[in-house]
Amino acid sequence: MNDSTTPVDRYALVGHPVGHSRSPLIHELFARQLGHSLTYELIDAAAEQFEAAVRGFQAAGGKGMNVTVPHKEAAFRLADELGDEAAAARAVNTLSFAGPRIRGDNTDGPGFMRDLKVNNDQGVESRRVLILGAGGAVRGILAPLLAERPARLVVANRTPARAAELASEFADRGAIETCSFEQLAALGDFELVINATAAGLEGEQPWFPESIVGGATFCYDLTYGVDDTPFVAWARRRGAGRAVQGWGMLVEQAAESFRIWRGVMPDTAPVLAELGAPAAR
Ligand code: NAP
Repeated sequence: MNDSTTPVDRYALVGHPVGHSRSPLIHELFARQLGHSLTYELIDAAAEQFEAAVRGFQAAGGKGMNVTVPHKEAAFRLADELGDEAAAARAVNTLSFAGPRIRGDNTDGPGFMRDLKVNNDQGVESRRVLILGAGGAVRGILAPLLAERPARLVVANRTPARAAELASEFADRGAIETCSFEQLAALGDFELVINATAAGLEGEQPWFPESIVGGATFCYDLTYGVDDTPFVAWARRRGAGRAVQGWGMLVEQAAESFRIWRGVMPDTAPVLAELGAPAAR
């Protein structure tokens, strides 16, 4: 409970752009659920403004920040200390301020894994896993996926060299095969296909060989929208067993940030329901 003499804890999302973010609503719902009093702001900062935006928010008494595109690697470099997931990902999406020091965590991986395993009942161990894309989000999910010991993990990217770079960076965590989208045609189908390209944000669907999806394939799109994303629609047309979009990851990674900042884990199910995310099918 706050009165006029008790400052309310301030949090923010920094990114470029941030205008359409659902994070303020999600954190407001968590706070209401748990009886916490806090504010959550949106800070739009281009690359050259990122560090000043973080240090300014910290100096003004902010408690923590989420970091989104394109700043997750800059946030990794800015942090004075790192959580294990952030160190593995070399990317940070959650900053916590304690005095002048900055701690960096990465909650994308834990959030994704919880949505995959708990909310969608999908295992990774001994399964054939394909990741489409090799950007910042893949940095967060690669190490936890490899830790589950998939039978095979392939990263395919529009720019194959970026996938190869990631594979060599994560080589000590497990075997990663890399290729172009075209080369996927020779690899048969996968049991788990994760779309981590940003194409869906523009309503686009890159070309992927139909053969990657079979009747038992679970397709997960990190992108989310009010209607089916282009990838979810494509996967359904290909006859995928199930295809879901990334609302669950969005809420779970936010819950994990909230836990880091506030010491208590919110219940994510009612928040997911309140966001009006399309039901997983
Ligand atoms: P990023 O670092 O900018 O990487 C973008 C990736 O998408 C790269 O692999 C890029 O390939 C590929 N790409 C972009 N446009 C493409 C196109 N037209 N055709 C084919 N490939 C294309 O972005 P990110 O941070 O990894 O985010 C990726 C997606 O995940 C975004 O849609 C983001 O919203 C989503 N995401 C969701 C959550 C969640 O909580 N649900 C969390 C994080 C991210 P190149 O290397 O060839 O450029």
